[in-house]
Amino acid sequence: MNATVLLGPPGAGKGTVAEVLVDKGYVHISTGELLREQIRLETPLGLEAKKLMDQGRFVPDDVVVAMIRNLLESAENDTRFLFDGFPRTLGQAEKLDELIQSLGGSLERVVLLECPDDAIVERLAGRRTCGKCGSVYHVTFNPPSHGNVCDVEGCQLSQRTDDTEKTIRKRLDVYAERTAPLISYYEARNLIQPINANQPIEHVRADVVASIS
Ligand SMILES: [Zn+2]
Repeated sequence: MNATVLLGPPGAGKGTVAEVLVDKGYVHISTGELLREQIRLETPLGLEAKKLMDQGRFVPDDVVVAMIRNLLESAENDTRFLFDGFPRTLGQAEKLDELIQSLGGSLERVVLLECPDDAIVERLAGRRTCGKCGSVYHVTFNPPSHGNVCDVEGCQLSQRTDDTEKTIRKRLDVYAERTAPLISYYEARNLIQPINANQPIEHVRADVVASIS
């Protein structure tokens, strides 16, 4: 079993990169999705996680790691996994290492999306969505045909409340603070493969393909 970790700030295009890797045969592990699935299936771990979440508490790393363990153990030996959204902290990175090692697998690389904060703010703060059909526009990169109105429904577009510049900068600060130790940890092992995420999407895709081949 081989693993690749995907790291990058919110809004840097992790979803696009994940798509590229899934196309190349990687199994995408999103811990958020994993958690929701376990809760839906009412597994022992899912029930435990739900109890904690209902009490307004965080699901501890050990529970998340146990869920990941179940998934990795049930996979074929030659499966390549893509971790997205996990690890987020140094503690989680160490737990993931232990887990991969205990299963005789290896961490192949850490794909690190790099994008200046200002570019991310421009991307996210310019986003407008249609509440009716879910279409997403961008004031600069993908504007609607007429004013601030959806091309499909003709209704007014709105901005998500967490897409304001202040909120985005705060999220980016939190990301930088939590991720910096993680980056040093992986850098020390020569696992980081930086990708310039501040370029047209097709270039990002091409760079990712080159980095994994
Ligand atoms: Zn619409």
